[in-house]
Amino acid sequence: MADLRPERDVFDIFIIGGGINGCGIARDAAGRGFKVGLAEMGDLASATSSASTKLFHGGLRYLEYFEVRLVREALIEREVLLRAMPHIAWPMRFVLPYSGEMRFDGQTPASRLLSLTMPWTKGRRPAWMIRTGLFMYDHLGGRKILPGTAAIDLKTDPAGAPLAEKFTHAYEYSDCWVQDSRLVVLNARDAQARGARIMTRTKVTKALREGDLWRITLRDEESGEEGEIRAAMLVNAAGPWVKDVIDGVIHVDISENVRLVRGSHIVTRKLFDHDKCYFFQGADGRIIFAIPYEEDFTLIGTTDQEHAGADIPPVCTGEERRYLLDLASGYFRREVTEADIVWSYSGIRPLYDDGASSATAATRDYVLRVDAQGGAPLLNIFGGKITTYRKLAEAALDKIAAHVPGGSGKWTAGAPLPGGDFPVGGADALITRARADYPFLDAFSAKRMVRAYGTDLWEMLGEATAAEDLGTQFGHGLTGRELRWLMDREFALTAEDVLWRRSKLGLRLSEAEAAAVGAFMRAENGTGSETRP
Ligand SMILES: Cc1cc2nc3c(=O)[nH]c(=O)nc-3n(C[C@H](O)[C@H](O)[C@H](O)COP(=O)(O)OP(=O)(O)OC[C@H]3O[C@@H](n4cnc5c(N)ncnc54)[C@H](O)[C@@H]3O)c2cc1C
Repeated sequence: MADLRPERDVFDIFIIGGGINGCGIARDAAGRGFKVGLAEMGDLASATSSASTKLFHGGLRYLEYFEVRLVREALIEREVLLRAMPHIAWPMRFVLPYSGEMRFDGQTPASRLLSLTMPWTKGRRPAWMIRTGLFMYDHLGGRKILPGTAAIDLKTDPAGAPLAEKFTHAYEYSDCWVQDSRLVVLNARDAQARGARIMTRTKVTKALREGDLWRITLRDEESGEEGEIRAAMLVNAAGPWVKDVIDGVIHVDISENVRLVRGSHIVTRKLFDHDKCYFFQGADGRIIFAIPYEEDFTLIGTTDQEHAGADIPPVCTGEERRYLLDLASGYFRREVTEADIVWSYSGIRPLYDDGASSATAATRDYVLRVDAQGGAPLLNIFGGKITTYRKLAEAALDKIAAHVPGGSGKWTAGAPLPGGDFPVGGADALITRARADYPFLDAFSAKRMVRAYGTDLWEMLGEATAAEDLGTQFGHGLTGRELRWLMDREFALTAEDVLWRRSKLGLRLSEAEAAAVGAFMRAENGTGSETRP
């Protein structure tokens, strides 16, 4: 840990947590001229923010919970975000096959209303209701880039080919894809470029009020070394740990609580050959997605399971795998089996506990609470979506501004993230240019790297004229040059940071290739050991 001294290191705002909410707030605050610090106990996005379904979406299903504010904000936000990051996010069409047997989750306000007013529907989700939901989805959010809803004939449309024959009709609508962990890292990079101090592998172990300031103890999780800093305002963006931090680090009494809900995904070998995504409704009223993933795979998820504690690592259980396989197999022409699964992952939603009856029904909206009773102010963050992270950061800055003077106004809506300074839809032209400028890049690598780094690719590859100029080749286009970039610019420390968060090359590299990446990074770090997995 770099030398920290409380008398010298005094921040306007100090943030606990390097997930999307912490990094989004750090970027916004640094851009407004605040002196910002952020501590993340693991790697950036090492918890929930790398384990999402990776959609910028309004959340069609939340309409059944009448969460109109959240849906509207998220729908509008999709296009704002697309414009700021056309490299790591892109539009997707979602195909919703329809059959008359589809059922509601009995607990949604919409289903309760329907069973009161039209008891003959007997819990079924009628087609007119789906059309109404899609109409609202099309019109609530002021769409300009994304195409609207359409009805499609699955007997003729290519999206029908992989599905069971009983599905003849579907609706198609738009949402967007985003590489979630890259989104976090790019926010952290931009925050740093604007003056924020981003400390990874650094845990906040204690925070005490000393009059108008916080005295905060940090522990380097690699060396065990401790240091102290001070800050005018503390932001608790610890995600699933938000309540643990309130109780065990800050020791304050707060009535709000977090509800931990695990969601798991499976990744299978590619199940279909087009670029649209499926929206499947289960007999239990829940929905799951089947999404084209990383060129050669299909991503299927998610589940909703109560999770007992943030310190319990989330894993996709056998029961969750079975649930996802069964639900998907009910739609695809051929059964999806355990043998198709190549990877699974799981994350914990840190939902605001609104007392809802089921995990599926708990609100996905965010709640920000300031506690300024005991002196220096504290902002606690509950809930939130990847999709609403920028709006959440703006709302957080509104609250912060009431306590910490001196910052300027909103600015992030028009500002591209690093590498994202090109028009929406311009990625293909950039890929073509990358292959012309660097003919030694194969098609897969050019696409992967433009989708990861956007216009920064030219800075990374510089004057290289041959593959050998990029140093060691680790397989599937990963080179020493890229690893150095990730270590120098993107806070990567271990092979896992690179293979499962900065990229998803972990799906492709063999064990020996992954070990070579780890060895290279240890040698470059001069640590000799990779202490974290
Ligand atoms: C299965 C699933 C699917 C989802 N799908 C979507 C989706 O498609 N679209 C969407 O918009 N949203 C989605 N979400 C929601 C979204 O992923 C989360 O709301 C969001 O990632 C939460 O971010 P966060 O920053 O609050 O938490 P996190 O990403 O968990 O970050 C909190 C960080 O705080 C750190 N931390 C904790 N305690 C300390 C400490 N004492 N010191 C230092 N650091 C600490 C942790 O290590 C962690 O990295 C999904 C969530 C799940 C689980």
